[in-house]
Amino acid sequence: MKLDTKVTTFSIVMTVAMIIVIVVVSFLSFRQFTISTEREHIASIAEIVGISLSESMLHNSVENRDDFLGHLAAVEGLRAARVVRADSVSKQFGKGLKIEQFSDGIDARVMRDGRPYYELMEENNSLVFRGTLPYVATRSGHINCLQCHNVAEGTVLGAITISMSMSEMLRSAYVTSSVMVLAIVFFMLVMLWFFRRLVKPVITTAHDVQETVERAIQGDFHANIERRTNDEIGQVAVDLNSLLKFIHDGLNTISQDVAQLLQQTPAHEHENLLNSTINRVAGLIDAAHFKQAIEEDETKPEIYRRLSSVLQERFAVNNFSVYEVVPGSNRMTTLMVDGEADAPCRWCDPQILVHAESCRARRTGHTINSINSPGICYAFAPDAPDRVHVCIPIIQSGAVGSVLQLVVNKDEAARVHEFLPYLNVYLREAAPVIEAKRLMDTLRASNLTDAMTGLHNRRFLEEFAETLVSSNQRRKSQLSILMLDLDYFKMVNDTYGHDAGDLVLKALAKTMQASVRASDLVIRYGGEEFLIIMQDTGGEAAERVAEKIRADVEGMKVQLPGAVLQKTISIGIAEFPLDSDTFWQAVKYADVAMYNAKEAGRNRVVRFRPEMWKDEAKY
Ligand code: GH3
Ligand code: MG
Ligand code: MG
Repeated sequence: MKLDTKVTTFSIVMTVAMIIVIVVVSFLSFRQFTISTEREHIASIAEIVGISLSESMLHNSVENRDDFLGHLAAVEGLRAARVVRADSVSKQFGKGLKIEQFSDGIDARVMRDGRPYYELMEENNSLVFRGTLPYVATRSGHINCLQCHNVAEGTVLGAITISMSMSEMLRSAYVTSSVMVLAIVFFMLVMLWFFRRLVKPVITTAHDVQETVERAIQGDFHANIERRTNDEIGQVAVDLNSLLKFIHDGLNTISQDVAQLLQQTPAHEHENLLNSTINRVAGLIDAAHFKQAIEEDETKPEIYRRLSSVLQERFAVNNFSVYEVVPGSNRMTTLMVDGEADAPCRWCDPQILVHAESCRARRTGHTINSINSPGICYAFAPDAPDRVHVCIPIIQSGAVGSVLQLVVNKDEAARVHEFLPYLNVYLREAAPVIEAKRLMDTLRASNLTDAMTGLHNRRFLEEFAETLVSSNQRRKSQLSILMLDLDYFKMVNDTYGHDAGDLVLKALAKTMQASVRASDLVIRYGGEEFLIIMQDTGGEAAERVAEKIRADVEGMKVQLPGAVLQKTISIGIAEFPLDSDTFWQAVKYADVAMYNAKEAGRNRVVRFRPEMWKDEAKY
């Protein structure tokens, strides 16, 4: 309810309530006052009538008493004056006038009880107050009744009834009340007028504030509320103006900054600036959280899995590909397709994998959007004609490192355009992290691989040993450790040169890898010392493999310029945890066994035995 309606309603209700209370109270008190006054009147008149009757009796003019009563009844306001004789008087003086013989129930009651009776009643449509008083015989007073009446003192001699008209009283009561009511209404109206005049600026300012706040909720923070008074209300108007201006300016700055971050145009005038800014900031925060999460991810596949979830859950895109450019080549690989890791190329001609230049996004470094430019990329191979694609290159180290391809239906175009700026923020945040992970991977791989043979190096074993041991313990299995060392290798270097030696080592690496399973680890442990770790191959099986390797090496022919070389190898075997419950001690035992093989004449396989370790000082 509006404030002025409230004020008016309140005043009307108060006025009506006041009028009701005043009218009721004044009527009641007026009635009370009138009744008590009329009683006194009636009592006085009755007294006068009594005295007059007694006087006429004493002066023998009692015969004319009805004239007196008749005259009395003619007095204004007096409706009737009537006297009734008691039986004792009738007995002594006869029945008297006809009028004196008539007694109604009230007369009889008064004569019986000797107590006056008063009643307010309706008579011929007008209000009448009747009083019936007993006329009691008394000796005292200015007339001694017992002088003439042969009755005992206190005997009721008759009853005097006086009826007074109340109409005049009632009329004055009405007049008084009406004047009061009019006065109240008048003062209330004056008060209402004054009050409304006083609160009008408050109400108008309140209206303006209400409208302004409503507009602010809709994102329009322009405010120019007029200062109508110099009191607190006026101050509210001024303060609200400056508050909204502050919010408006602040919001504009934030919205422009956010738009810049999103590489979007700022929100339109007709847009709800607050809502759009909140949404945009929420989008940026999501992207920041995403960046935080992928920074803590350990591997690149984890990052791409997270990116997949974002595409599926946040952007509701289920068909997409992530291509990665193979560094230093013209090839690409599919890392993710429709949320599936390392899946085959599904949305493009697979040609792009071997000829990355066919991928337009990869070649140009620009977003390729077939919603805006249908058929822009020839490599896109949709499964249905209404499919469209948006391919976004992810720039790493100034070049296209990977390409994210979204595949959607044509009717989703508007939605895609809406979320694209946000997705770009995600990708922008992800790019440096992916790049860092990629560099780390390359670095790690180069650190853990032997450049010449391509085998794992000793550092790899040092890093990997713990995982290897715990996985072996979990499976309660055996690890066979083979230590291999070429026989008289130094001679190769000395005779044919170091390069020839390198060729032998490379050939050996290939031979060893060919002789073991893919799950077995072949490690270049030292210069021409190698370690082969076989999982779940214990006892004789390990010895068989070792023997096969030995034989393969023996049969290996290394082609050198002008010569063909054949070498042999000595192999020591130990088992973990059979020979030692410490992995590195087991490696040591394999080494001991290998030296035993050397000592025993080389080109052989020797299984470690504990007694070999006894002569520890030798090693
Ligand atoms: P043994 O039968 O006792 O093993 O005799 P050996 O000549 O093989 O002796 P040893 O194992 O001590 O010789 C190691 C040699 O391997 C010394 C070093 O010149 C050579 N070597 C180590 N790393 C490389 C390498 O990367 N390339 C080449 N060409 N030679 C290497
Ligand atoms: Mg050696
Ligand atoms: Mg050697």
